[in-house]
Parts: sequence; C-alpha cells; structure tokens
Amino acid sequence: MELRFCAVCEKNKKACQFATGICKACYKRKKQRATGVKERPKWTKEGRVNYHKRYYRNNKSIICDRVSKWKEKNYDKVLKAAKEYRKNSKEVMRPKRRELSAKRRARKQSATIGKFRKELIDFYQKCPEGMHVDHIIPIAGKEVCGLHVPWNLQYLSPEENRKKSNKVLPQ
Ligand SMILES: [Zn+2]
Repeated sequence: MELRFCAVCEKNKKACQFATGICKACYKRKKQRATGVKERPKWTKEGRVNYHKRYYRNNKSIICDRVSKWKEKNYDKVLKAAKEYRKNSKEVMRPKRRELSAKRRARKQSATIGKFRKELIDFYQKCPEGMHVDHIIPIAGKEVCGLHVPWNLQYLSPEENRKKSNKVLPQ
C-alpha cells in the first residue's frame, strides 16, 4: 500500500485517502472553513426515526401507492411472507391471543354486572324505613358466595337480619 504524506495534519496516510494534495479529512475541514457550511451532524437513532416518521406522514399517498404497486407485481412474495410470518409468530401470538381473550371476557363480565347497577341502586333507595337490605345468599358466605345482583337482594327487618347473619336461610 502506497503511503502519502499530508502536509496539513503531518501524517502518512494511505494514498486512497487523499482527495487533492492533502488528505480527505483535511480537505473536508478546509472546505468547511471556506464555505462556512458545516457538515451535517451525525444521525442519532431517535433523529433518524423521527425523520422517517415525518417523511412517511408527508408522503403517505406516494408511499402507499408505491407499496401497493409492488405488492400487485409481487403477489406470490406477499403470500409467502404472510405465510412465513404466521408460522413464525404462532408461538409469540398464542399467549398474546389468550391474554386478549381473557381481557375481553373480564370486560364482558364487568359490563354485565354494570347493567344491574341502576337496579341495585334502585333497590337500596326503595328500602322501606327501618328495614335492611340483605343478600339472600351472602356475598361473603363461608360455603357459598352470592353475587351482588338484584335477584340476590331482599328486605329484612333488623331482627331477621341479625338472626340470619351470614347463613343462608333454609327456604
Ligand atoms: Zn491531513
């Protein structure tokens, strides 16, 4: 490898690193000083991501167009990639799907209970004076656990309520 001497930084460098009479690095610095134009700062990861995001936002229709044209032309590739993706993501997706369906179930349940809220409030508001609202099947029972739903409520006199305590009354 042929070496050349740069008079500016006074170093021996490989010949391929020379632009003119001086090395590329020194040439760049010299040019910058002369034109006052600073070299574009190095990309940070965040900056690059933001740049692409902005570009995507501003050129959405062009990009979408280009992508859909490419997809049309390479339909077999699209199918193959989708198949591959499904196969690879199966292991990843399965627990996720399970979690989602559990969440959905929980949501549904709470919504069902929520529907009775008005009825429950009504039941409490209509409680005759001196009476207590009682859960027919106690919600904190030892053996059974009743629900806080309208059809599990009844009015009891304080006396009856004391007698019943947390037990399910024999019908
Ligand atoms: Zn140099």
